[in-house]
Amino acid sequence: MLRTTALYSKLKAHGIPCSEIISMSNHTTMQVGGIASVVAFVRNAEELITSIREAKNHYVKFVVIGNGSNVIFSDDGFDGLVIITGNMKNFTIEGNIIKADCGASVSRLAVAAQKAELSGLEFAYGIPGTIGGGLFMNAGAYGGNISDVVVSSLCYDTQRDCIRKIDLDEHEFKYRESIYSKNPHLIIIAIMMELVPGKMSDIIAEMNKNVRARKEKQPLEFPSAGSVFKRPLGYYAGEMIEKSGLKGFSIGGAEVSEKHAGFIINRGTATAKDVMDLIEHIKKTVFENYEVELECEVRFIGN
Ligand SMILES: Cc1cc2nc3c(=O)[nH]c(=O)nc-3n(C[C@H](O)[C@H](O)[C@H](O)COP(=O)(O)OP(=O)(O)OC[C@H]3O[C@@H](n4cnc5c(N)ncnc54)[C@H](O)[C@@H]3O)c2cc1C
Repeated sequence: MLRTTALYSKLKAHGIPCSEIISMSNHTTMQVGGIASVVAFVRNAEELITSIREAKNHYVKFVVIGNGSNVIFSDDGFDGLVIITGNMKNFTIEGNIIKADCGASVSRLAVAAQKAELSGLEFAYGIPGTIGGGLFMNAGAYGGNISDVVVSSLCYDTQRDCIRKIDLDEHEFKYRESIYSKNPHLIIIAIMMELVPGKMSDIIAEMNKNVRARKEKQPLEFPSAGSVFKRPLGYYAGEMIEKSGLKGFSIGGAEVSEKHAGFIINRGTATAKDVMDLIEHIKKTVFENYEVELECEVRFIGN
């Protein structure tokens, strides 16, 4: 029996919701990418850890994703286990403290904070990811970053096979980086955040302003993975791409958005290869014009 099929049977026996032969284009916002051998839709920390332990027991490689809004799977897919955390979405609010499981939606947490009259997550309203993905990426927008609100996080150390608490100063936060993006063996389980009391009307006004700006500036009507590139020091990637004349430039079904040149959109028929070829073309063109190497914010999984 194939190792992945044996793993699938084992996860089923544990009662973990999972499926075989799943197209990752259905589980990523860019909507490209091939087939994953097994996908587990874990609901709690126990299922997350069991899935990882079983993958290791079966010598099957694994990857953990949240909402797939910053990842692109290759067209060859992923011959292993993809663990999706979107069902690990519990959270509590006590006083100024929010404790959230890694799969909780960042935007839902922002709304819950607003209802509790807590300020600090307004910037995150509209980011289409989970709080785990947000912590991994140190996601940010409109002057705020996840690092501004994190107090600590809990992770599963897959090398040491133990749960660890990571305190604020251990997170190694930088622009779109955290200890997690540098140490893929650490899998985020939960996050503790501290917000500050705020005035409900001010919080709502700020959230509405941010979401309006998103709708105005971002091509939300098309599948995408958000801003493809990190902001280079002293520049804006979108502006460099636009000034390089690449707005609307396409390869296959992947196109540089007319609305925001920092976004690549899927016109419906894009493959992961189209997206990657377009990224390479953009990098080359921008380098020729500015001698600046654009670095991808989007992460690639598979070949
Ligand atoms: C329309 C649009 C707008 C966007 N706007 C913004 C924005 O304003 N600011 C911004 O920063 N980003 C933005 N993004 C990108 C993306 O939404 C964020 O990076 C988000 O935080 C990713 O969360 P996710 O749950 O989708 O992570 P995924 O894409 O699923 O994963 C991202 C990375 O985190 C890892 N990961 C996920 N969960 C875990 C876990 N529990 N443990 C360990 N590793 C994990 C994955 O392996 C992967 O490497 C946007 C994307 C889109 C499509």
